[in-house]
Amino acid sequence: MKQSMTLIPTLREVPADADTKSHQLLLRAGFIRQNSSGVYSYLPLAKKVLHKIETIIREEMDNASAVELFMPALQQAELWQESGRWYSYGPELMRLKDRNERDFALGATHEEVITSIIRDEVKSYKRLPLALYQIQTKFRDEKRPRFGLLRGREFIMKDAYSFHSDFDSLDEVYQKMYNAYSAVFRRCGLNFRAVIADSGAMGGKDTHEFMVLSDIGEDTIAYSDTSDYAANIEMAPVTAEYTRKNEEQKELEKVLTENQKTIEEVSSYLNTAPENCIKSLVFKADDQYVLALVRGDFEINDIKLKNLLETSVVELASPAETKKIIGSEIGSIGPVHVEGDLEIVADYSIQSIVNGVCGANEDNYHFINVNPERDFTVSRYADLRFIEEGDASPDGNGVIKFAKGIEVGHVFKLGTRYSEAMNAAFLDENGRSQAMIMGCYGIGVSRTLAAVAEQFNDENGLVWPANLAPYQVHIIPVNMKDEAQKGLAEELYQELKASGIEVLMDDRQERPGVKFADSDLIGIPVRITVGKKAAEGIVEIKDRKNGEVIESDKAQIKEVIS
Ligand code: ATP
Ligand code: MG
Ligand code: MG
Ligand code: MG
Repeated sequence: MKQSMTLIPTLREVPADADTKSHQLLLRAGFIRQNSSGVYSYLPLAKKVLHKIETIIREEMDNASAVELFMPALQQAELWQESGRWYSYGPELMRLKDRNERDFALGATHEEVITSIIRDEVKSYKRLPLALYQIQTKFRDEKRPRFGLLRGREFIMKDAYSFHSDFDSLDEVYQKMYNAYSAVFRRCGLNFRAVIADSGAMGGKDTHEFMVLSDIGEDTIAYSDTSDYAANIEMAPVTAEYTRKNEEQKELEKVLTENQKTIEEVSSYLNTAPENCIKSLVFKADDQYVLALVRGDFEINDIKLKNLLETSVVELASPAETKKIIGSEIGSIGPVHVEGDLEIVADYSIQSIVNGVCGANEDNYHFINVNPERDFTVSRYADLRFIEEGDASPDGNGVIKFAKGIEVGHVFKLGTRYSEAMNAAFLDENGRSQAMIMGCYGIGVSRTLAAVAEQFNDENGLVWPANLAPYQVHIIPVNMKDEAQKGLAEELYQELKASGIEVLMDDRQERPGVKFADSDLIGIPVRITVGKKAAEGIVEIKDRKNGEVIESDKAQIKEVIS
């Protein structure tokens, strides 16, 4: 491609509102332009990189036996009402009406659409398992769109969904997806870790996030160099210390048994809880809001709240009241479900219980009069603290370190959360109807592009890994008015292109300084400078990564750059 024929609007100045390397460089190097807050155009260079990331993803999805489809971004509200997420997703879901005043959502994710397809088309265990994926634009009205492509309101996601007749099959496909994700991010050259993540109140069991290690990451991960343990800090409170104390466990079990009388259908599997985290939930029971502390995993689908520790009655706080008491909003949002007799109003981590208010980042999701001494005994948790750097890792094989991470991928065992709500059932071998078991798996494609830009750059610009670079070779005729230079540049351009190499040629009538600076900024791995020695057939070859420059005869050029 010749630069005079494409659009690469580079900028000299660092854009004022771009505060991360990737955001600055992608703007400056002419890869992206902002349209509105969190909404971007991908200009030709970015489109090429996206294409390469997508190709890697497609290859790995293919290896994992997942098949591509494409679903609508414009989704009827009815599906979201069936799943319940129309009511629980909150303002992040972009909603609109058509000319007939019918409600629609712009897809934030596609569990509802895929579940509706599969429930209509798959009726027998013989057709399972099935894994499908798409690469598509997603819409989320993020509260704080920022860091350019890293947190957009319109972004590209690869989302996959799997359907199973039993949990073993889900485990198997989950592992395949996990491996596929590891391969994708490895092939993108990213320094990442797969971490245990918080399954929230989705009823899911296993879930892992793929985190790119980066100082600008919005998540904190706890990991150890010498053990396999790695978790999102949300999932890593040190209760390890706690579990070690058998005596206290027994005491807990006692509390548990007592509390089972308070709320029916609560079962306790203290010993089998996969993760030792403390969570709090608020239920609506008998028209009262009940704060419950729950230890370990819990499954709302079965209305089995494992490991219930304590309960107490609390009141809903208005956002105004919340602000008055604590000065700001706190906590993390949890989904709302209506399941059976228990209305789960919100869930949040124990961290968010501050000054008698706890809750989530959403209006009317705060609770007041939560009194740690009265509602649950603080002394019992006094030796409970959140994991810190220097602690032993829970598996005992190493020492905990913290790092900031950018979540680029997420794999999740959904179980029957959607199939039950939306009646996606199949007939098993005995002709009995059963809810399908599901998994879901997402990769932020545009976020991955930004994460690569964030990890691969230097003071002069972007430094693309060869397999993701928009072009392999950048040819720069220093002076386009010099016939020898122009002629040799054109000759090399045609020759390299003919041998399948992606070449960009700067055929603009610009000063050499401008061309070199732009070339560094764009970050193509190999630069061929056609200058003073053009008449002798000699060019300069520069490696963008290490800055090494060598001279080459035009006859040797293909060997030199390969
Ligand atoms: P985050 O915690 O960053 O808000 P998420 O957990 O809400 O992400 P998922 O629902 O797990 O995101 O979506 C799958 C993937 O989509 C994420 O792992 C991430 O890579 C990507 N993604 C999510 N939100 C955005 C966004 N606003 N902009 C760009 N990519 C995103
Ligand atoms: Mg999010
Ligand atoms: Mg997340
Ligand atoms: Mg996620």
